[in-house]
Amino acid sequence: ADIGTDLRNSIRSIPDYPKPGIVFRDITTLLGNARAFRRAVDELVQPWAGMKIDKVAGIEARGFILGGAVAHQVSAGFVPIRKKGKLPHKTVNVAYALEYGEDIIEMHADALVAGERVVLVDDLIATGGTAEAAVKLLRQLGAEVLAACFVIDLPDLGGAEKLRKLGVPVRTLIGFE
Ligand code: 5GP
Repeated sequence: ADIGTDLRNSIRSIPDYPKPGIVFRDITTLLGNARAFRRAVDELVQPWAGMKIDKVAGIEARGFILGGAVAHQVSAGFVPIRKKGKLPHKTVNVAYALEYGEDIIEMHADALVAGERVVLVDDLIATGGTAEAAVKLLRQLGAEVLAACFVIDLPDLGGAEKLRKLGVPVRTLIGFE
């Protein structure tokens, strides 16, 4: 099957999770499928393959799995972007709005040096709030954000557009209405 169909068929949709009315796109079935996992990792960074990438930054927690594999693939280092309070050393942080309240993501202050070329990876972009905060965090440390890559886009929520307006090229492999 073509890659879009292959990846789409490997993702499981869970109705009413984590709350009524939400359809959760579960990528554990993609991760457990050797062929789909490899295709997703290879395709995520395909446009930047062969370019110099210093770091891949992955967003907790599913972005760690994909981002770690991508970092290995492109011979880059890996930088974890985590929820507040999980990283042991000195951190920088950015707060972002949720539907109710706010959340804070953090990165180690010495995870990057200014000018490093970074690709951001997560499993899914919805409103783009999380990824936008991650881009701000990376730029705070002087990173050049080459691209943001996601397996799944929920285009109706406008996250990819939001990132493009920040000047970040966005790559997504499949979309769900
Ligand atoms: P956003 O900040 O773009 O609204 O939400 C994206 C974040 O929420 C990502 O870190 C993503 O992992 C998580 N997320 C939201 N909805 C889903 C979903 O249906 N499936 C998965 N796998 N992750 C989701």
